[in-house]
Amino acid sequence: MINVKTNIYYEKDADLSILKNKIVGMIGYGNQGRSQALNMRDFGLEVIVGNRDDEYKKMAENDGFKVYSIEEAVKRADMLFYLIPDEIMNEVFEQKILPNLHEDQSIIFASGYNIAFDLLKPPEFIDVLLIAPRMIGIGVRERFLNKKGYFSFIYVHQNASGKAKQNLLALCKALGTLKLGAIEVSFKQEAVLDLFTEQGYGPAFGRVLLETMTILIKAGYPVEAVLIELILSGQLKSIYKNITEYGLSKYIQAYPKRTQYGILRNEIDYKKVAEKIANIQKEVLEHIASGGFAEEWEKWFSKVKFKVIKFFAPRVGFGPKEKKVRKKLSLPEVDLFAEVAYPTEEDIKNSEKIQEELKDFEAYSEY
Ligand code: NDP
Repeated sequence: MINVKTNIYYEKDADLSILKNKIVGMIGYGNQGRSQALNMRDFGLEVIVGNRDDEYKKMAENDGFKVYSIEEAVKRADMLFYLIPDEIMNEVFEQKILPNLHEDQSIIFASGYNIAFDLLKPPEFIDVLLIAPRMIGIGVRERFLNKKGYFSFIYVHQNASGKAKQNLLALCKALGTLKLGAIEVSFKQEAVLDLFTEQGYGPAFGRVLLETMTILIKAGYPVEAVLIELILSGQLKSIYKNITEYGLSKYIQAYPKRTQYGILRNEIDYKKVAEKIANIQKEVLEHIASGGFAEEWEKWFSKVKFKVIKFFAPRVGFGPKEKKVRKKLSLPEVDLFAEVAYPTEEDIKNSEKIQEELKDFEAYSEY
């Protein structure tokens, strides 16, 4: 186990006076942008918004902000929060931000991805900062208002001004994150942690859930009962809630003794497969950390493969079963996949890999 010294910052570490007379520019007024803008304005900072002329712009105006084009906001602001989706950041940066940047500015990212994998290259004359809340936008606002604070990963990637760290901490204070704590983590570490949670943990958890349901259904338990027990009742949510509240080593104390005994005795058995899981996870981690995933995602093939997977995911395996059960139980059907167009025949014909992918899906649909 490697022991890394971790720097954690709290309100006492920040001095807001360094931001006196500075203008904060929010580029993007979505999930994170709106909450962060409102928090900083409540802290007394001057905040303007840069956005295209559409619904988000109207929302910012209704909230009482001055809204400019992105180009104009970049010219006017000292601290630029760059809060638009990661995937289009590079293009918008090249076209609208880079030509308007000047010295003594800072750009603040809420995700390490583009800098970590060299997809976006800011000029050397500005500060480049990371304030990545471990919380969705609504939570960033709620936990500011109820003074609980929230965790963030923060970092100085480029210190052109010589004051980047002081600015970073002052902005963190105004965002409300220092009430709970901001942890120093590089852009690369933030990006890898984020992606690995999605790719190393998410699918492993999903696989265990699927196997559990499959075993029960094959053993003759009604599919409705299985889905209610494992998903629809919301019981499983309480496990994560208890882990968050009491800690991983103590959460089971929230359950009756019989439950505790059952969990502990079987955890020992599951250690037998731990090494196999860890080996797959190590490969996933290496793929992400080496930049392999970012490179893969940039390619045409990944985008087509993504379309294929998204199209088939709700149509195979548990998808149809779940659809029937939800209908029977009068639960609403929300089609999150509606916007995905089926890959064209040309796409499929041109790619052996996609044909293999389809075969995999057929095997998977045996559930
Ligand atoms: P959103 O999808 O909510 O961003 C919407 C904003 O982006 C709107 O203002 C929208 O304006 C603007 N936008 C979208 N497309 C374009 C475009 N082509 N050109 C210019 N502006 C555009 O993003 P999030 O707030 O979810 O994410 C922002 C950052 O925060 C990302 O780096 C993300 O990784 C990070 N983050 C997100 C978290 C989350 O909970 N979602 C948590 C922590 C970090 P319009 O469409 O009007 O142009």
